[in-house]
Amino acid sequence: MSYLLLMNYELSIKYLKGVGEARAKLLASELDIHTCGDLLQYFPSKYVDRSRFYRIRDLYGTEMPHIQIKGQFVNFTKEGEGHKQRLTATFTDGERLCQVTWFAKIQTIANMYRPGVVYVLFGKPSFKYNTWQFVHPEIEVFDPERPPQGLRGVYGLTDTLRKRGFTTRIFQTLTSNLLDSIPIGSLPETLPAELMRERSLMPLDEAIRNMHRPVSTQALQKATERMKFEELFYLELHILEFSRRRNLQLQGHVFTKVGPLFNKFYSEVVPFPLTGAQKRVLKEIREDMRTGRQMNRLLQGDVGSGKTLVAFMTMLLAVDNGKQAALMAPTEILATQHAEALAKWAEPLGIGTALLTGSTRAKERRRIAEGLADGTIHMLVGTHALIEDAVEFRDLGVAVIDEQHRFGVAQRARLWKKGAVPPHVLVMTATPIPRTLAMTVYGDLDVSVIDELPPGRKPIQTWLRYDDNRNEVYRHLWNEIQKGRQAYIVYPLIQESEKIDMKSAEEGYERIRSIFPGVGVSLVHGRMKPAEKDYQMQKFASGETKILVATTVIEVGVNVPNASVMIIENAERFGLSQLHQLRGRVGRGAELSFCILMSKHQIGQETKKRLSIMTETTDGFLISEADMKLRGPGDMEGTQQSGIAFNLKVSNLARDGQIVSQARDAAMRLLDGKMLLTPQGIAILNAELQRRFARSIDWSRIS
Ligand code: ADP
Ligand code: MG
Repeated sequence: MSYLLLMNYELSIKYLKGVGEARAKLLASELDIHTCGDLLQYFPSKYVDRSRFYRIRDLYGTEMPHIQIKGQFVNFTKEGEGHKQRLTATFTDGERLCQVTWFAKIQTIANMYRPGVVYVLFGKPSFKYNTWQFVHPEIEVFDPERPPQGLRGVYGLTDTLRKRGFTTRIFQTLTSNLLDSIPIGSLPETLPAELMRERSLMPLDEAIRNMHRPVSTQALQKATERMKFEELFYLELHILEFSRRRNLQLQGHVFTKVGPLFNKFYSEVVPFPLTGAQKRVLKEIREDMRTGRQMNRLLQGDVGSGKTLVAFMTMLLAVDNGKQAALMAPTEILATQHAEALAKWAEPLGIGTALLTGSTRAKERRRIAEGLADGTIHMLVGTHALIEDAVEFRDLGVAVIDEQHRFGVAQRARLWKKGAVPPHVLVMTATPIPRTLAMTVYGDLDVSVIDELPPGRKPIQTWLRYDDNRNEVYRHLWNEIQKGRQAYIVYPLIQESEKIDMKSAEEGYERIRSIFPGVGVSLVHGRMKPAEKDYQMQKFASGETKILVATTVIEVGVNVPNASVMIIENAERFGLSQLHQLRGRVGRGAELSFCILMSKHQIGQETKKRLSIMTETTDGFLISEADMKLRGPGDMEGTQQSGIAFNLKVSNLARDGQIVSQARDAAMRLLDGKMLLTPQGIAILNAELQRRFARSIDWSRIS
């Protein structure tokens, strides 16, 4: 076969040596690999050092990376019945024993390996039941003739591929066949030369070869860096160009006035000086509103950083310019609290406010509809009910959305009628993520950050405690209640089963009542009717009950400054950001507050490490960064709604923050005309954008 033909990325994979019709079908359906180009871009998911054999006595900790050991099988035992059946083998390196376990293909395996033959086991051992275990390792007969291998790629396989006999080894053979058929240096470059030079990146040809068959750790490092940069650079270019185009398209209201209401509020009503961060953010918002394009801004600020005030003052700008404003919250309780806060601030200014939620009665709804139409209601606070079709503003100028992640792009668009000038939109979130990341994830939003808490907050003391410390924890709780404080006890919400979730909260409620007789206790969980929930919350908020036992329904809600204790049960089940949110419910008053994370004693090292991050810092940015590194941004709230397909293959938005910034910076300079490209460079960019996002850029419009 001609080399030239093989170099064609579009060539069907089935023509590659070693593939054929059947394997081609499998690769297509399982891994979306259709062409030779796809295969070249399907990189190993990890690399292992096969230059040395480990001894079992050298293994350490409880989890090892992928390694290889050399030795013989001692015996095989079948255990269990039916689909629970498994095969275990004892394996020895001549010095110590370890265990190998299989859960599938048991009969085949039992027949395949024999005592007396020297094998190489290759996998990820873990220490369990007092011995080192390998589960489904790769195994090959030891070949003393074969030179020791260096770094080797391990390819991600699906179960189906595995069942059909695919192995990492096969992938290695296929990619080797392909790479060997392409003359060195002939894979066409996919980044413009200017950029390659500027960042001294490894050329694509060399990088691809090293991704599959690294010649050294350093070469793999350089190759990975290049592939990550390329991927993120094109992503940023796509996002930036996309949002610039949107900015040009969407016209917005022009608010020229910082009027009497805003000024009066600032000088006479607001009960405390704004923090520097609040002032800065308000300035950014005002700038936006002057430009004539629609504002789409994300406001990130830690729990308790004073976002509500910023929201209110933003809404005032609308009213000062003859428009109305809306504030939308994710829950009824939160909407109610916002409405109360806003009414208190609005009243001295003579501004009309109203609250609209799912449980607003028909009569009140009619009054609201009238008030919105005749303009006597300037500010409307509510839940999802706000985006129901029946709600019509006379002239909506600003919409503020609290807790970004629950509202997507599509829902935001429903705030205005087709053809009308869209309101300025401010979305607020208390789950901060690093700035560059935020700009990437929420591609269509500009980002403001409140990075400062109002002065005088006492830091919250956070402890990690286990079930057998319960008495001590309850004693502490009792002391606080004696001092007149209040406490939350929170149970995790188990998504699959609201029933179990309710049950654990109910049991907790009974236990607390029996331990603290005579102390008022409220119970709130997701299965209650809203009215009952509100009633219970209200009793707690007013101080009638001292302890609130709840499932995570309180997560984004309530402001009870007198509460000084937050006990979180089964803390290990929560994500860090969620714990941080919950912790933010206390520490709102002047008293020293406590957050106690309760957990079973037998949690793993990893979990302990994760939870101890909470005891070490109260900085929401650090926490969410740690959380993202642990969970990956895929799980991060909001990514699904960003409206942009990420589909990252080599990079990771959470872990590669620095490359994200650099890629973004390069893309920005390019779009600003600060990096000049040759026509050839431009052709490369457009071809890549086309390939990745099925679009290109009209460069004549740029700079
Ligand atoms: P979040 O950002 O979590 O929504 P809030 O807006 O609820 O925070 O503010 C938390 C508390 O801090 C409120 O009681 C609010 O009145 C108060 N607060 C807001 N800004 C300031 C400030 N500049 N100085 C003092 N207290 C403030
Ligand atoms: Mg808030």
